[in-house]
Amino acid sequence: MSYAKVIIDISAEAIDRAFTYRIPDELTEMVRPGVRVKVPFGTGNRLRNGYVIELSETVDFDESKVKDIAGLSPKAMKATSDLIEIATFMAREYGSTLNQALVTALPVKREIRKNSRRTDPVKRIEELGYGEKEDEVLNEEQQKAVSEILSETGRPSLLYGITGSGKTRVYIELIRRMQKEGKQTIVLIPEISLTYQTVNELASHLGQRIAVLHSKLTEGERYEQYDRAQKGEIDVMVGARSAIFTPFENLGLIIIDEEHEKAYISDTSPRYDVREVAVRRAELSGAKLLLGSATPSVESYKKALDGEYSLSVMKKRASWGARLPEIIVSDMRDELAQGNKNVFSLKLYSLICDRLEKGEQTMLFLNRRGYAGFVSCRSCGFVVKCPHCDVSLTAHNDWYRDPDTGVRKAALLSCHYCGYTAPMPGRCPECGSKFIAPFGTGTQKLEQAVKRTFPGARVLRMDADSTQAKDAHEKILSEFRNGNADILIGTQMIVKGHDFPNVTLVGIVAADQSINVPDYGAAERTYQLLTQASGRAGRGEKEGAVVIQSYEPSHYAIQMAAGRNYEDFYKREMGFRKLMKYPPEVSLLSVRLQSEDEGLLDEASARAAGLLTEQGKYVGVTVIGPCEAGVYRVNDVYRKVIYLKHEKREILLKLRDTLQEFIRTEYKNRKIFLNYDIK
Ligand code: ADP
Ligand code: ZN
Ligand code: ZN
Repeated sequence: MSYAKVIIDISAEAIDRAFTYRIPDELTEMVRPGVRVKVPFGTGNRLRNGYVIELSETVDFDESKVKDIAGLSPKAMKATSDLIEIATFMAREYGSTLNQALVTALPVKREIRKNSRRTDPVKRIEELGYGEKEDEVLNEEQQKAVSEILSETGRPSLLYGITGSGKTRVYIELIRRMQKEGKQTIVLIPEISLTYQTVNELASHLGQRIAVLHSKLTEGERYEQYDRAQKGEIDVMVGARSAIFTPFENLGLIIIDEEHEKAYISDTSPRYDVREVAVRRAELSGAKLLLGSATPSVESYKKALDGEYSLSVMKKRASWGARLPEIIVSDMRDELAQGNKNVFSLKLYSLICDRLEKGEQTMLFLNRRGYAGFVSCRSCGFVVKCPHCDVSLTAHNDWYRDPDTGVRKAALLSCHYCGYTAPMPGRCPECGSKFIAPFGTGTQKLEQAVKRTFPGARVLRMDADSTQAKDAHEKILSEFRNGNADILIGTQMIVKGHDFPNVTLVGIVAADQSINVPDYGAAERTYQLLTQASGRAGRGEKEGAVVIQSYEPSHYAIQMAAGRNYEDFYKREMGFRKLMKYPPEVSLLSVRLQSEDEGLLDEASARAAGLLTEQGKYVGVTVIGPCEAGVYRVNDVYRKVIYLKHEKREILLKLRDTLQEFIRTEYKNRKIFLNYDIK
């Protein structure tokens, strides 16, 4: 390699442009991506600091104009060079451009807009009044986990601890050990606004030297937090995905809480899996990596069984007197047969009454927001669909202004894919019948049903619609925590990690919802949701109960969640994945092609599949598709998918690069967009 691409200092403009320099012979050994160098730049060839991002054999312009790297810069920051290596890794692994990867991984300095009042998230937490807390004495299981994790070198650790087993307390202990050694910790949680409690807990134990990366921070504020980390002003960073890029100079530990969460995979390019990036980051900085969950992903649990990760297990609830709740499955087919047409089974109904009498709290979980699932005509069966997407519209009982008359009316239809809204039609647009009505139950309708069935009960609802205002999450949660409500209704937002000691009943209103999703991970996600939701009950001294309502109660995800049997679920699920050749048994590359032009998309995806089949057959790659995506059209863009399976991920990545090149050259100026997902 004789040339190096160098970015001059880290700023927004510099990342958009890299400059090529010749590597003098005496430096060939030392220059590699991430290394800090001095290079002549601009008028007068003043020496400036820069970072090498890429090496190459050739330059594609006049060679005589290329300047030499002047030398290595002595103050190379370890963190920055690690992050540049990570960016190169991400670009390669997830098929993004290097620029996209660099912008994602490096703290980019941007102006903080005047007037934007700085809100320090930790201060805000303190204002909520959680204050300082004493550390509880670790119980036996927690002590064992801590020492196992500390003694592990060279491989990540998985902490499988049931809900309420006190994982947070283990994290705090480990972070303290790091602090004593002068090392820093990154704590990843799936979504900050939903897990305020974890942040509170950590902040109240660890005090001032902790910072939080909040999804509502501006880019300037985000940079400021990174900057504090780099300067050594803090030693714990808590945040969602992007906190993995915190430029700590002496990183000792990375914790990924609730490691099974889908939120750990980025949905914009580079579509990275933060668990994989964390493995890299830990290797580069010699840090420990800890993955924690009550419902480990089958991928991670398999790695633990294979010895790629160490495994620590905690099976008891930590809090004094806390017991695991009783789990009852209500068969909704029986309820219907007995004439019960309500959303509540008789059991759930009577338990809610009981809790209201005792002054204890109930959480009702339903993973569908809005009023009803869809709107259809009883006379002809017509279903109201989005004009821009292949999905039915969801009914909401919000207010809207009638465009013709200007009158305010209730009930609005909205598309959860593109945001399109329309008024609820008075008559069927197809046959003119009056019998057009919303079907299925969403959280708004559930709220109405609760208020009607239990008059006098104080009810709160938490879902994407009720939490649009800043701080709305915390407001609802603290209202509930302070006992200002008897029943909290919500989507999956309410199941994650919350610890409410007075909740003694959890009702899962429609457990089948997530089973019938056309995705090989549907059973796993159902198991996780049910277990996490159940885990909210009985965390204090009072006895708890969980009611799971289902039309398919014999499904193994429901049976094993009810039986609290993770190991059996894992065996069953892995049997299925093996049989069907799904991850983690094999690697799976999903290629998604998108275009506004349906004809062009047909052609491009057929040719892409042809190319992949042709090239893949020599190495034994299975190609499935092209087929239409689960929702074929979203926002007037058509989507097709091709699946590739093989034991070796490397082989799939090579094919992906070939395909990318093919689309780039063959469809240069025509609009075909590609994205990938590798498992
Ligand atoms: P998890 O994250 O594993 O679901 P948490 O960390 O939220 O569990 O802990 C559950 C409850 O147990 C919390 O109220 C916590 O304060 C309490 N707890 C944790 N460890 C101990 C301990 N060693 N002694 C007493 N209570 C504990
Ligand atoms: Zn009709
Ligand atoms: Zn739509």
